[in-house]
Amino acid sequence: MLNQQDKNSTIDRNETVVELAEFNLIQQFFTRSAQRKATRLSIGDDCALLAIPEGYELAITTDTMVENIHFFPDVSPEDLGHKLLAVNLSDLASMGADPVAITLALTMPNVDSAWLKAFAGGMFTLADQYQLDLIGGDTTSGPLTLSIQALGLVPKDQALRRSAAKVGDLIYVTGCFGDAGLGLKIKQGYIGQGIQQAMERFNRPEPRIKEGLAIRSLANACIDISDGLAADLGHILSSSNVGAKLDYAQIPMSQAVITYMQLTGDWRMPLTAGEDYELCFTIVPENVSKLNVACTCIGVVEESRGLRLIRDGKTSNFNISGFEHFL
Ligand code: ADP
Ligand code: MG
Repeated sequence: MLNQQDKNSTIDRNETVVELAEFNLIQQFFTRSAQRKATRLSIGDDCALLAIPEGYELAITTDTMVENIHFFPDVSPEDLGHKLLAVNLSDLASMGADPVAITLALTMPNVDSAWLKAFAGGMFTLADQYQLDLIGGDTTSGPLTLSIQALGLVPKDQALRRSAAKVGDLIYVTGCFGDAGLGLKIKQGYIGQGIQQAMERFNRPEPRIKEGLAIRSLANACIDISDGLAADLGHILSSSNVGAKLDYAQIPMSQAVITYMQLTGDWRMPLTAGEDYELCFTIVPENVSKLNVACTCIGVVEESRGLRLIRDGKTSNFNISGFEHFL
């Protein structure tokens, strides 16, 4: 689709040039043969067609990244392609969905072939890990804004919802917390140890698809941690009408994050910083022995609303802004 602005400001001949550029760039960078049987019709028509197997539901999510708001202008286009897809797949992972296809909406100030090639390379390298088909999208001119819509399959009624946590469930997380937050601090000038690993986590998060699929039949509620552990666990708690107690000492953290906290005193960072893209799920204790993924128990779901944190032998209320008062 062309911008209204393009249409108003260009004569017919120029519009054709713009359309040709759009057509060529889609052909050149984004059109590949379909990998999935479910893909009945891919790029090239007004809509793509996707077959949904009997007994499955389609899980659908979209995430948008805007230059200067969600990413720095100096980010490498490969990393950007990876991250844009990863944050969308992370949403599918948290529902226990199996990713099948994506659409891509690109808004760019100009057509830069080298940038597009690198961006597509980063995106497709991750897409290929899951045999994902890019089945359509939109290309338009404007400030750099990138959106992916990701589509996944989940057996009927089996998607992991935020609202299904039960009192007595144990709270588990995959991976460790604070590295992406540390990556952001490094971009903002913090100098310390473990810089490379933190920047890697910040620039190239890995969606926990395998883990989401493995816990689907065992967990009650699940969410992916995009806005910070406390805030996102808070979404599970409020949609499930429950509260929780977390044991700070159990929250997995890298040595780089521990060193950062020792140097700065900022112990809240792993709880409040975003973009780790790990999963946080609740599970009945009886199912824990069946878990077959690397994960850590950090707390328990309780009837009393709110989030409580045990730290250095004291229990305090913790709200997502980091404010606390002792009980
Ligand atoms: P329309 O004007 O009918 O919306 P477009 O001219 O925008 O169609 O797009 C032509 C085809 O190219 C469509 O199949 C569309 O899904 C696909 N497409 C457009 N932009 C992208 C993109 N950035 N990535 C993948 N497919 C795209
Ligand atoms: Mg059309």
